[in-house]
Amino acid sequence: MLLSGRKGVILGVANKRSIAWAIAKAAHDHGAELALTYANDRFKEGVVDLGTSLGVKHYFPCDVARDEEIESLAAQLKATFGTLDFVVHAVAFAKKEELAGGFVDTSREGYRIAQDISSYSLTALCRALRPLLVRGEGGPGGGERTSSVLTLTYLGGQRVVPNYNVMGVAKAALEASVRYLAADLGPDGIRVNAVSAGPIKTLSAAGVSSFSTLLDQMPERAPLRKNVTTEEVADASIFLLSEMARGVTGEVLFVDAGFHAMGI
Ligand code: NAD
Repeated sequence: MLLSGRKGVILGVANKRSIAWAIAKAAHDHGAELALTYANDRFKEGVVDLGTSLGVKHYFPCDVARDEEIESLAAQLKATFGTLDFVVHAVAFAKKEELAGGFVDTSREGYRIAQDISSYSLTALCRALRPLLVRGEGGPGGGERTSSVLTLTYLGGQRVVPNYNVMGVAKAALEASVRYLAADLGPDGIRVNAVSAGPIKTLSAAGVSSFSTLLDQMPERAPLRKNVTTEEVADASIFLLSEMARGVTGEVLFVDAGFHAMGI
C-alpha cells in the first residue's frame, strides 16, 4: 500500500484500455482516494461507469485546452479534497492527418493543437494545482513528505518514429517541461516526472498511422522480447507517485521492455 491516505486526481481516462485507467486501478489498490476527470460530455458516462467500479466518488470535466476548465477543476478539487498528493496527466491529442506521412508537412494549426493539448497543458495544470499540492509531515523516517506530478511520454519525443511526427515534437517539449517544472516546483516539495511507455493499443495510439508495426517490432527487438502492458506502466507510475521515489524529480523513466536502450 504505497499510496495509503493519499489523495490524487487522474486526467486521461477515456475507456478501459487507457493507460490512465490502469494507473487509477493501481492507485486505488495502493490505497489512494481518487478524483477522475473527463475531457467532455462524450466521455463522462464511460468514465463514471469505470470509476464507480472502484468506488470513486468524484468526477470533474476538464478540457485541458480551456483555462477556465483547469481553474474550475482546481476550485472543485480544493472544495472536495482540500489538498492533493498527486496528479496524473495522461492526456494527448493531435489531428489524425498529422500522424501520417512526413513531419515536414505539419500544418501551423496542427502543430499548435498538438503542443497545446499534449504539452502546454501540463504547465497550466501544475500552475493551477500548485497551491493544493502539499508538502509537510509524515514522510518516511519522520522526514517531509513530497507530492508528485506524473505525465506520460513516448520514445518519439527523443528519436524519430515514423508517422509520430508532430506528437514526437510535442513529447520533446513535454519532457523539457518536466525538467523546468521540476526545477520550479521542487522547492515546494513537488516532484515532476514522466513515464515513457512502450507502444500500447489504446484509442490515442489508433490515430498513429502504421501503429501496429511498432507493436510488432517489440517482441523481436526489445531486450525483454515483448510489448509492455498498461499494468506494467501503471506499476512504475505508482513508484513515481509514492514516497518510494521521494528523491526522484525531473526524470523520464522508460517502461518499454528496454527498447529505448537499443541502437541496432
Ligand atoms: P487514451 O486515448 O486512452 O488517452 C488519451 C486521453 O487524452 C483520453 O482520455 C482523452 O480524452 C484525453 N484528451 C484528449 N484531448 C483532451 C483535452 N483537450 N482535454 C482533456 N483530455 C483530453 O490513450 P493512452 O494511450 O492511454 O494515452 C495516455 C497518454 O499516454 C498520452 O499522453 C499518450 O501520448 C501517452 N502514451 C501512450 C502510448 C501508447 O502507445 N498508447 C505510449 C507512450 C505514451
